[in-house]
This record gives sequence, C-alpha cells and structure tokens, in this order.
Amino acid sequence: MTGQYTREYWQSALDAATLNGRMFINGGFEDAADGTTFVRIRPMDGKPGGTFARGKAVDIDRAVAAARAAFESGVWRKKDPAEKKRILLKWADLIRENREELALLETIDVGKPVMASLNVDVALAANCIQYYAELCDKLYDEVAPTGPNDRAIVRKVPLGVIGAITPWNYPLIIDSWKLGPALAAGNSVVLKPAEQSSLSAIRIAELASQAGLPDGVLNIVTGYGEEAGQALARHMDVDMIAFTGSTEVGKLIMGYAAQSNLKRVALELGGKSPIVVFADADLDAAASAAAWGCFYNAGETCHASTRLLAERSIMDELISKIEEVTAREITLGHPFEPSAQIGALIEDAHLEKVLGMIEAGEKEGSKRAFGAEKVMAETGGSYMSPGVFVAKSNSDSLARNEIFGPVLTAIAFDGEEEALKLANDTNYGLAGAVFTSDMGKAHRVSEGIHAGTVWINTYDISSLATPFGGFKQSGFGRDRSVHAIDKYCDYKTIWQRFG
Ligand code: NAD
Repeated sequence: MTGQYTREYWQSALDAATLNGRMFINGGFEDAADGTTFVRIRPMDGKPGGTFARGKAVDIDRAVAAARAAFESGVWRKKDPAEKKRILLKWADLIRENREELALLETIDVGKPVMASLNVDVALAANCIQYYAELCDKLYDEVAPTGPNDRAIVRKVPLGVIGAITPWNYPLIIDSWKLGPALAAGNSVVLKPAEQSSLSAIRIAELASQAGLPDGVLNIVTGYGEEAGQALARHMDVDMIAFTGSTEVGKLIMGYAAQSNLKRVALELGGKSPIVVFADADLDAAASAAAWGCFYNAGETCHASTRLLAERSIMDELISKIEEVTAREITLGHPFEPSAQIGALIEDAHLEKVLGMIEAGEKEGSKRAFGAEKVMAETGGSYMSPGVFVAKSNSDSLARNEIFGPVLTAIAFDGEEEALKLANDTNYGLAGAVFTSDMGKAHRVSEGIHAGTVWINTYDISSLATPFGGFKQSGFGRDRSVHAIDKYCDYKTIWQRFG
C-alpha cells in the first residue's frame, strides 16, 4: 500500500527540502578547511542535487583527531554497556521517526524508488543499529584455563579509530552495517561516504548525536575517494579501514594500509554471482528469483544474480519466463512513482560505462535476448531497461566482468559437474544459488559453490543474523551478525599471578 505516498507528495517534500552537504566533525557541521565544494547531479532527472564539502587530507586529520580524542577519553568505550545500548536504541528510533526524510535523501542521491528507500533501506538501517545496540550488554569476555595460582582474563577490546569507506548503491544499509558493530564494540569512527551519496550519512550522524552519542565518536567527512578516501586509508592514526566498494579500489586500500601503519583492513568487494538452474527445478520460481535477484536496485547490487547458469534443455524456456516476470513485475519508472520497482542508475557516466560493456560483449558474440537499453532519456535522468544476454561461454566479458547494471548473462551447461565448474570459474565469491527439486543435488552444489552465501531454491533472502561477505576477490571480513563485532575488536590478555 502506498496511500499518501504519491508522486506529488514526494515532489513537494523535495521542493521543501534543505540539503545539508557539510561534514560532521566532533559533534558539529564543518566546511572543508579550504572551503571547496562539489555538486551532485541527481540521477533521477539530471538536475543539481546537494552541494558537498570537498574534504581532503587536512579535514581527515581533523576528524581522526576528534575520533582519537573521544576514544582515548573513554567517553564512549568506557560507558556502562546498558547506557551504550540505550543511546544506540534511541538512535535507531530517531532513524525510524525521520524515515520519510531519510528515504527522500537516499533517493535524491541514488535514484532508487523512494518507496524502496523507505521500506527497505531506511527500515533495514534502523533494524541494524537496533540489532547491535541490543548486543552492547550481552557480550562476555573469557577466563582462560590456567593453574590454581593464576588467572588469565581474555578481554575483547575495541581497536580504536575505525575508518569506514562506503559505496553508493545502498548507502544507509552499508553505513549501518559498519557503524552498528564498530560503535557497539566501543570504537570511534570516521566515515567517508561515496561522493555520489553523502546526504543520508550526514543526517544519521546528526541523529546519532541527538540520541546522545558523544562528540567525536562518529564523524563524517564528505569528498572524493582519491582525496578524502585515500587520506583516511593512509592515515597513521587510523587502526582499521572497513571498506565496501569495488575490487579495484579494495586492492588500493590494502596497499595504502601496507604503505602506512599496517592498519587492519576488511574488504567487502564486487561479485559475479551464479544462479544455477537445473532442468528439474520449478522454473517459475527460478525465473522470478533470477529476474529480481539481478534487476533489483537497477542491478547495482554486489551480490546480484548476474550469471544465469541454465541446464541446456531449459535455457530458452527460462529466459522467456524471465522476460515475462520482468515485464509483469519489475516496473521501471521515476523514483517518486509509487509503481516504480526500479529507478535510475547512479549517474550518466556509469550508465555509459554499462552500455559500453554491453557493446563490447555484443562484438564478442554475446546475443541480446531482450532489453538492456537506454530509456527515459527525455527526463534528463540515467535510466536503462533490464535485459538478458546469452553468452557463447563463461569466458565472454559479459560473463566475467561485474557490470553493475540491470544486465543478466546466461550461459548453458550440461550436467552437475559442468554447472559447478562454471559456477566457480570466476574471480569472485560473494554469493550464488542453486535451483533443483533434487535435494541431494542441491546439497552438493550449494556446498561446492565457493561463495559467502549460497541460496537453495530462492535468492537474496537474508537477515541480520547471518554474516555477509565474500571469498576470493569479493574480499574478506564479514558484515552483519554477531561475528561482525569480531573485526572491530582484538583479544587482550590480562594475566594475574597470586601468592
Ligand atoms: P568504488 O570502489 O568506486 O568506491 C567505493 C568507495 O571508495 C567510495 O566511497 C569512493 O569514494 C572510495 N574510493 C574510491 N577511490 C578511492 C581511493 N583511491 N582511496 C580510497 N577510497 C576510494 O565503488 P562504488 O562504485 O562506490 O560501488 C560499487 C562497488 O561496490 C561494486 O564493485 C560493488 O560490487 C561493490 N559493493 C560490494 C558490497 C559487498 O558487501 N561486497 C556491497 C555493495 C557494493
């Protein structure tokens, strides 16, 4: 039900909105030290969005100094765990109270349907902060086995200052995946959101402060990756970088850490996830999962089901069913239209990159089954229709490279052995799925796919209770679940000898 949420409703909200693009450092809003700014162009209509402070190394220095001072003072890390919980729960409440504003900000930046921003992105971000809030007073340390005259306490202690660098596809969700566990563990954070999507990060930092998070514990520095991002990852007083983004930049981040202070690194990177469909599967269910798994969020999803591995005998039928589901359910439209299921791509440059990859793929011999064209150009926005290509083999560029648009590449296979070989013939290992009515086969293939999450007869079901992340060049370290706390802490032994 969309009720009051008509296109006009959101347009009036946009007309009335003031977009705050200033950095949030030590509890207050700040401009870049050199006063420079940049303007974000809205993907929904090509018009100017927010104007943002263009943070650089000197601004990162200010934010890291504030984070370090807050950490050393103990104002957050030494707080009674029940009080920490109360503050983080209040923050989750404030995110919910301000959900319409946050949804609008997310859609202005990213171009995704505002109803998805409201019901998915904002809702999941609030749930995530709540999940980690509730853990604050439920984590225990250990007492190691020792002789009778000794006592060794193994404490889990926060690392210190965490640098978080996040992408533009699910800004609120991914920011909350970093902030929830990092803050629950007692760290301070400097977050550098993607230059395309800073509005929601700035606003939730303000809400955290309103909830009672002490000054300096959470800081937001806006700016470009090569400037603010690199300065954060190279900083000598940052203890860890929690990064989500492309594999290419993930490799740079590891280099920066090695060249500076050997800070820890956790990387959530790209994917080219296989969805393996056997002839004995429920093809309607498989088609729906493949279409939604690949095209949701205009295909800008790291774990999107972008490689359809179909048993040869059902390949054509499956693609027809995917086309039907796409036409029937996955409505493309202006992000304020209540009926829109997918909206714009993040920006024109990205749209052109996706179209360029398609052109190269077609030259290599991949065949278009349907869609994948630039549309709605008259709106000034960056839109393309979802589409499917059939590759000659898993070696074609459309089958190998992360496209990050609504483009699914289908590859035929014969038998279980080949299916598994093709599924794992990729540099990535973020997710995968298998569709079959044979539970033995489902078990063997799901065990065999080398990926952080493998679904059986479904796609993209998840919860905060399960860890999320990848193998191979999809990175390492896990977001979500109790395990995410681990990467923001380390063990410290306190050994006492009696007598
Ligand atoms: P990106 O790598 O271009 O940018 C990610 C972040 O890194 C941004 O904040 C950017 O400003 C910053 N950055 C860029 N260059 C930098 C540099 N030299 N030093 C430091 N920081 C730098 O990625 P993107 O285009 O924003 O996002 C899309 C990518 O993110 C895709 O590859 C997608 O698969 C991946 N992703 C992965 C996950 C996951 O959980 N595995 C989730 C979402 C997105």
